[in-house]
Amino acid sequence: MTNDGAPLRLFNSLTREIEEFRPIHEGEARVYSCGPTVYNYQHIGNMRAYIFADTLGRVLSWKGYDLTHIINITDVGHLTSDADAGPDKMEKAASESGKSAWDIAEYYTGVFKGDIARLNIRPPAKWTVATAHVEAMIDFAKTIADKHCYELDSGLYFDTSTVPEYGRLARAVTEEGEGRIDTVEGKRHQSDFAIWRKTPEGETRQMEWDSPWGRGAPGWHLECSVMSKQYLGEQFDVHTGGIDHREIHHPNEIAQNQAHRCSAHTGANIWMHNNFLVDRRGKMSKSAGEFLTLQTLVDKGVHPLAYRLMCLQAHYRSELEFSWENLLAALTRLKRMVMAAQQLRDRVEAPTTDIDHPRLQQLLTAFDEAVSDDLNTPKALTVLDDVLGQKKIDPAQRLATVALIDAVLGLELVTLTRQDIRVRPSTARVDEALIEHQLDLRDEAKGNKNFPAADAIRNELASNGVEIMDGDPLRWDWRIEAN
Ligand code: AMP
Ligand code: ZN
Repeated sequence: MTNDGAPLRLFNSLTREIEEFRPIHEGEARVYSCGPTVYNYQHIGNMRAYIFADTLGRVLSWKGYDLTHIINITDVGHLTSDADAGPDKMEKAASESGKSAWDIAEYYTGVFKGDIARLNIRPPAKWTVATAHVEAMIDFAKTIADKHCYELDSGLYFDTSTVPEYGRLARAVTEEGEGRIDTVEGKRHQSDFAIWRKTPEGETRQMEWDSPWGRGAPGWHLECSVMSKQYLGEQFDVHTGGIDHREIHHPNEIAQNQAHRCSAHTGANIWMHNNFLVDRRGKMSKSAGEFLTLQTLVDKGVHPLAYRLMCLQAHYRSELEFSWENLLAALTRLKRMVMAAQQLRDRVEAPTTDIDHPRLQQLLTAFDEAVSDDLNTPKALTVLDDVLGQKKIDPAQRLATVALIDAVLGLELVTLTRQDIRVRPSTARVDEALIEHQLDLRDEAKGNKNFPAADAIRNELASNGVEIMDGDPLRWDWRIEAN
């Protein structure tokens, strides 16, 4: 697909309007996404933010843009509240676990990258790590220190009254907003924030560096201003993050960018935010204690791509409620799609990439219109269903259409098999080959009209947590119950 399809229109949080995407550099799209703070596992709510950023990236590629996507790894500077309160998340995790902050960062970065791969999120052009950019952060801070900052005993602070329209992105800055507790003595304005935090006298931190403002660590917001500029340029196309970032982190990044560039330009043309994954208790968050990781879903026998599908079934700007029912419904839908795609593959003798059937062309246009309309993935999925359901059209052309669409949705429909999505719950006590064997024996018993023997096999499997699903329309003959 090229730019001659529907114009790509995206919701810009800055203007609160849908705008046409116009790249700064002809034919290119440069995107920066705020990445994880690697002091703990990412929960599935966090992963929604990367599924969204990946969908944006895939749509930009579909529209023919040459994509450069950067995601950062925050391994220093993020305090336990988003403003300037509380200890550094990494240092806190280190003192609680007895491990070094560096080891903690390495471990959780590895787990995060594993989850990214399991969700079929395309890796960015570069993972940029905050601690590898501290010198550049100090250099950046030096350029804004005189005109825009002031020093207190605790560090160097940004004076938010020195930039035009501070907080325009957030609009309503509420007193009760997350992290809006002013605990720093001497700040000129409540919204002022740390650029550099000095290590308090007599203390040492595991992660600290020398700077013109004393030994210490950079403020969290600084890294994203510095790394986005370094890898994407003074002005780039799109900046993404979860909707919580619209309130503090991104307004602060914008303020730094404006100060550094001596201009009202925010750095990115479009700022985009995904809404929260919520559950009955509200926003899923790490500080709330219990949270779900991707591994929890896998342990329950749910394939990771069922979670990706669950996210795509909602628009990224809507809240998405997590429930096991929703997730299992998405898993069933994924199974249906995988089975349909597998049947297509089985029927194709000579693969093709030429799609000249008018109905398929029409459906590709509908798909393009859906994703170009501020990434309307729920609608795009119904187009995919429609393609899979066109039973009378040549399977080779249909498979080619599915492949094109799936390059955007990322559900691996061209390669996944029924066996792949049959994820074994971690509590399962039986092995799959044995189940298949028992089922053969049961079929044989039924064939011989030996129903007591057939029932005995069913009961034995049930006692091992295996449910037999006779007559299942998806021919999903059995299922292992997670407990
Ligand atoms: P963090 O590791 O806390 O810096 O968060 C990583 C990303 O997840 C950020 O873009 C957050 O805005 C986003 N995020 C945090 N909680 C949720 C949630 N419940 N639903 C969706 N996105 C979230
Ligand atoms: Zn950021």
